[in-house]
Amino acid sequence: MDSSRIRIVLVQPSHPGNIGAVARAMGNMGLQKLYLVAPKDYPSPEAIARAAAAVSVLDRATVCAHLDDAIGDCRWVVGTSARPRAIEWPEMTPRAAMAQAAAESARHEVAIVFGRESSGLSNSELDRCDILVRVPVVAEFASLNLAAAVLILAYELRLAYTAAGVTELAAVSGSATAEQVQHFYEHLEVVLGEIGFLTAKPPVKLMRKLKALFRRSRLSTEDINILRGILTAVQQPRVRRQQLPPDP
Ligand code: SAH
Repeated sequence: MDSSRIRIVLVQPSHPGNIGAVARAMGNMGLQKLYLVAPKDYPSPEAIARAAAAVSVLDRATVCAHLDDAIGDCRWVVGTSARPRAIEWPEMTPRAAMAQAAAESARHEVAIVFGRESSGLSNSELDRCDILVRVPVVAEFASLNLAAAVLILAYELRLAYTAAGVTELAAVSGSATAEQVQHFYEHLEVVLGEIGFLTAKPPVKLMRKLKALFRRSRLSTEDINILRGILTAVQQPRVRRQQLPPDP
């Protein structure tokens, strides 16, 4: 297990004070890698002031334009939400998810993604996550402050790292990166369009159901190679026929 393989990703945070408070929470719990996706107001003196002794987390933060840039090389991506979402995104408790994240970090990069203060994560951003985590707060007031949400998950992660026996939790080996999975989905959508299978434009609902199906099987890099090979063969039927031996 290696907490340096865990990154906290904030999608379009609006308030620099929250970015600083997130850095502080991360510093408290021994996390170092912060990714900021299109922050509204950053760098900022307010962020530095709120980070307190964890300014090094801000100094090393990576700023990206798109969520894909922040999670592309990760092989397990956790999304967080204040609200329950559709069944397409399997939910785990914060404790179970962070125990799994700790185990996964023994083998590969892991991302924990947090949404905008105003509107959380969009459905298409959740599409890029392997699982969804919701801190079980009271239903009438479910929305935590961004930095408070990070602190709770970072604390659970810290417990997981220090708990006896967590090393026995198996990380899935050979799982695909978020970028490989995303490219596969894009390829699949193109091919489904080409063969006339898609009726709706854009085919958001169908694609979301297909993604849920693949998410359940936790695709490996090898699986993706096979599936994309099949898609390419579907796109080149004539080339394929020519390669077959002639009929006797
Ligand atoms: N109004 C937004 C709330 C966003 S709060 C909404 O309804 O979605 C900002 C971010 O903090 C969320 O996107 C999520 O990443 C995190 N967060 C807030 N409350 C949470 C909770 N109860 N469980 C998990 N994450 C939470």
